[in-house]
Amino acid sequence: MKYATRPGRVPARRGPWRTREPILVPVITVDAEAGFRSLGQPAARRIARQALVHGRAGRTLLVHGPPGAGKDAFVEDLLALSFCSDADTSRHPCNQCRGCRDARSRAHPDLVVGSPDGWRDQRSTGESIVAAARRWLLEAAGAPVVADRRMVLIERADRANEQIQNALLKTLEEPTDRHVFVLVADEPSRLLPTIRSRCQPIRLGAVPRAELVTHLMDVERLPQDQADTLARIAAGMSGTAVAYARNRELLTWRNRLQSELLSLLERGRADRLGAVRDLIDDTVALVPARATEDEEIRTPASVQREAALLVVDVWMSLTRDLLVAAAGRPELAPSGELAAELGTLAARVGVHPLRAMLGRLEKIHAGLRENAAPKLALEAGMLAWPMLPARPER
Ligand SMILES: [Zn+2]
Repeated sequence: MKYATRPGRVPARRGPWRTREPILVPVITVDAEAGFRSLGQPAARRIARQALVHGRAGRTLLVHGPPGAGKDAFVEDLLALSFCSDADTSRHPCNQCRGCRDARSRAHPDLVVGSPDGWRDQRSTGESIVAAARRWLLEAAGAPVVADRRMVLIERADRANEQIQNALLKTLEEPTDRHVFVLVADEPSRLLPTIRSRCQPIRLGAVPRAELVTHLMDVERLPQDQADTLARIAAGMSGTAVAYARNRELLTWRNRLQSELLSLLERGRADRLGAVRDLIDDTVALVPARATEDEEIRTPASVQREAALLVVDVWMSLTRDLLVAAAGRPELAPSGELAAELGTLAARVGVHPLRAMLGRLEKIHAGLRENAAPKLALEAGMLAWPMLPARPER
């Protein structure tokens, strides 16, 4: 494989794997091999091919999986697969034709992309987000220009409110040969059952670690030790691993956060509650800005909630590592500067408190997704975090 660099396109989604600044990323040049570029996911590929190349399966696809599962990269493949114009369909996506290129740069004239954030941004004065979404759906129903069909991509579909989902349902109830809808969701359970029942689900999940390591070395061009570490941190989630590979700031933040959480094990209630504000502030900068100038949309509460979710993600992963170390399997915990400290602290805390903490953090995470107050949520975590007597020699 050959590589070149180009200014990295800002991935279209939000989340820790999106960066604010364009970055240089290795990409495959025009003489690229045909095929999917996202990682693994054989079952998902099979369904996509059946639906888009052979015209089987439904006209509405639901790409879902946890944050960091690589949904953006997979959707990019899906679009290229759909718009590829190579005569040999077994080579789709060929990654050389105009259709493939335009699909991957999201510049294809028959691609329409929307999301709850986008509809909020596109409201005209006095218009509600529901009205903006309806208007968008009406426009999306237009005829294709170049290709046989339009691809209507709705990102973060699970974040749409019920009224918008009802409007979407009406559109999906009138399928045409000239439109394929692709809904993307972290949590499909937040979609109306009537929407879900009309979708062909495509689930993305963790990929085998060895495959992820190879991908990080071949495509992101990381040395093996770094690729190993990132694959382990990301727990097989290719989107997360690639985000860490492309944005070192994230890795620094993660290490800083984990060290702080470890040191709080030996600190009292006042220190812990005092740390919450700093943790949120330190993380807010990493919550990606929306592609808009309109600052009022990015309310402090929503950004803080996203920040708190990022903190809890890392906290859960740290707790899992401690649990593994406490259970006598330190070789499964991440390597690096934390490793020695992890083992000692884990032994002092013990398996049961860590297991209870993990359950607690999962509840806190769920609460934040349901709009719990971010500061209170993290404070609850701090009070549940096991407390060790401070070591005098430290
Ligand atoms: Zn092509």
